Amino acid sequence: MYMQNPVFIPGPTNMPEVLRKAADMPTLDHRSPLFGEILRPALAGVKKVLKTDAASIFVFPSTGTGGWETAITNTLSPGDRVLAARYGMFSQRWIDMCQRHGLKVDLIETAWGGGAPAERYEEILAADKAHEIKAVLVTHNETATGVKSDIAAVRRAIDAAKHPALLFVDGVSSIASMDFRMDEWSVDIAVTGSQKGFMLPAGLAITAFSPKALAAVDAAKLPRTFFDIRDMARSYANNAYPYTPAVGLLNGLKLSTELLLAEGLENVFARHRRIASGIRAAVRAWGLELCARSEDLYSDTVSAIRTPEGFDATSIVAHAAKTYDVAFGVGLGEVAGKVFRIGHLGSLTDVMALSGIATAEMVMVDLGLNIRLGTGVAAAQEYYRDGRTSKVQAAA
Ligand SMILES: *Cc1c(COP(=O)(O)O)cnc(C)c1O
Repeated sequence: MYMQNPVFIPGPTNMPEVLRKAADMPTLDHRSPLFGEILRPALAGVKKVLKTDAASIFVFPSTGTGGWETAITNTLSPGDRVLAARYGMFSQRWIDMCQRHGLKVDLIETAWGGGAPAERYEEILAADKAHEIKAVLVTHNETATGVKSDIAAVRRAIDAAKHPALLFVDGVSSIASMDFRMDEWSVDIAVTGSQKGFMLPAGLAITAFSPKALAAVDAAKLPRTFFDIRDMARSYANNAYPYTPAVGLLNGLKLSTELLLAEGLENVFARHRRIASGIRAAVRAWGLELCARSEDLYSDTVSAIRTPEGFDATSIVAHAAKTYDVAFGVGLGEVAGKVFRIGHLGSLTDVMALSGIATAEMVMVDLGLNIRLGTGVAAAQEYYRDGRTSKVQAAA
């Protein structure tokens, strides 16, 4: 393939050429000192991206889903209670994994389009006087609905209830694109993967454990072997893995963190916010609505856009792929057929975003939706010009 459009799915994301090259390596002896020169900076870089000094990083050859399993199997025992809210396909899948592992899930049903209900967490934790609930699970960015939850508010809820439960956060589609403060929010386990904010191929589960989470590991009775962080920690002490590491991906991770930190994390977050705001301006100009129910919930990495009643949103994704060779995300679960998703995270610029908006517009016009060509693009152009022209004037 020598002509390639950017993808607008919320992972895997577009890969910068330098990261593809970094991940494409000749075979290297993973028991040689050379490997440590990749592993050490990769782990240190992840810590900086997560804004943590206190946490220990464990990276498995796996995906985000393996990161969920790492979190629960290393800290919990069969029959333990965990508290979680269901508000989209990804929060649902983590809950399902807990149930399949024999954990008892205290489930808060939340409308899709809503976020983690901190007040409900607080009520339930306050009522759990015996402290049977061992962990609180939150999906920071629900990729199915384009909803961002307030992790600081969940932390405040746990603290207000004076509850000792661990806080596990799925940051698969937020980390490295949206602000994430592991230490400040006292997150106990953070989970992500390589193929979203880190702009790499899929293949790494990236996890971070707080000292409090580490203290729970020895007593935890859920079976684990591949994902046992104690084996990983012992091997890391010798700059090695308990098995064969994905060396090329780790080399990519090292460079990815270098790129993110060189751009500046706050600049990375601001870029995602700006790109997302332009896309939201386009959605408004089309007269459509987001699945996310209020502005404070808007995700800066993915927008799930509701299509008119009776229209099959999936046809937008199919038509875009077939006619324009552009990938958007389909609706999942409860919102299947009702929304289509524009992923806007990772290696993306305003100009790339404009091409996605323009394509979505052509597709919707092709399919007979009542939208005028150019309206969404113009709204986003206005938004993207704004900050830049004032900068040019200031420099002149
Ligand atoms: C993509 C995603 C996952 C699943 O990650 P895989 O790498 O596909 O296993 C989990 N949670 C969220 C929020 C995601 O966006």
